[in-house]
Amino acid sequence: MDTQWRIETRGDPIGAVRNFIGDIWEKGDLNGMMVPLNVDSFDSTAPSLINKPELLEHVNPFKPVMTVNAANLIPAFLERDPGARIGVILRPCELRALTEMTKHGKLSMDQIITICVDCLGTLPLEDYQWRAKHKGSGERLTQEALQFARQGGILSYRYRSACQMCTAPEARGADLNLNVLGLPVRQCILIQTIDAATAERFDLGSITDGAADLELVDQHERVLFKLSQRHNHTMQRLFDTLADYLPADVEALVEQLNECGDCQSCMDVCPICSIARPIRAEDGHYTRLDVMRWLVSCSACGMCEQVCPNHLPLSATFGYIREQLLLEFGYAPGRSVDDPLPLI
Ligand code: SF4
Ligand code: SF4
Ligand code: SF4
Repeated sequence: MDTQWRIETRGDPIGAVRNFIGDIWEKGDLNGMMVPLNVDSFDSTAPSLINKPELLEHVNPFKPVMTVNAANLIPAFLERDPGARIGVILRPCELRALTEMTKHGKLSMDQIITICVDCLGTLPLEDYQWRAKHKGSGERLTQEALQFARQGGILSYRYRSACQMCTAPEARGADLNLNVLGLPVRQCILIQTIDAATAERFDLGSITDGAADLELVDQHERVLFKLSQRHNHTMQRLFDTLADYLPADVEALVEQLNECGDCQSCMDVCPICSIARPIRAEDGHYTRLDVMRWLVSCSACGMCEQVCPNHLPLSATFGYIREQLLLEFGYAPGRSVDDPLPLI
């Protein structure tokens, strides 16, 4: 069976995605779904666990704001109801974090259906709130962002710095991947399943509008390639600009963290720290190995930077160290549950 499918959106891409997710809920006989919701308050942005498919009419997977890495919420949802089968809608950096958490034995994917969406980027919270209010709702802001999906998105200079440097904003590796980047989303979006068996299990032939047009698949890949190049360029430029402030290597980063005193805010919000948190020894120092174990799995979500009380450029800092670890170990975090962890 095919693994790439097409959904006609008839001018309403968010509505088409909601319908598709509803079909997945039914075909997968799910007990609930963790979703980003549109709610009345402009402040409420964290994903919620819903147990009624009717609530899917409020789902907005493309909302341009992220205040928590949703992977961090999943273990608690699963613990609440150990027998439940749930769907989770994730951005690419959240899926990478979930993949790493699974490899560290934090949770099993057996109960979870992962649905990943191409990410158009996210704004800092205050910026999102101001813009959503100005537009009238978060949904309208999302619709505006989706208008530029074909070109790879807009406003990149206003996005969180993690998003400006995000070299892998594409949905890939989940059970079901919703593609919008590079596509005429008012006409259609694409769905990729992880394998043919998943397409068969969810009966994609009956809940989509047929196999994906190869020309659109190519167009999607071309825009992703350009976007990744552009974001990589931004990342290297930031590394150059911040050269005097970035720790040169892991040892220098350990020193920097040692000087942070009792603050561990970056670790408190980090999904990777829920599985590989550096521990301070009695002398108050972190070890090189602990910090490497942490950052070799870093999913590049940038949540750490959002909370740093010293306003340190942590997306660039950890990105710079991550590049060094990538060269040393050849390990790409979150790529696959089958890649063995380089540091146990
Ligand atoms: S880091 Fe990448 S995947 Fe995560 S919110 Fe930003 S653009 Fe999206
Ligand atoms: S270190 Fe920061 S960017 Fe990396 S996974 Fe943790 S919160 Fe996300
Ligand atoms: S949040 Fe900032 S100040 Fe706090 S430990 Fe992390 S890097 Fe240091």
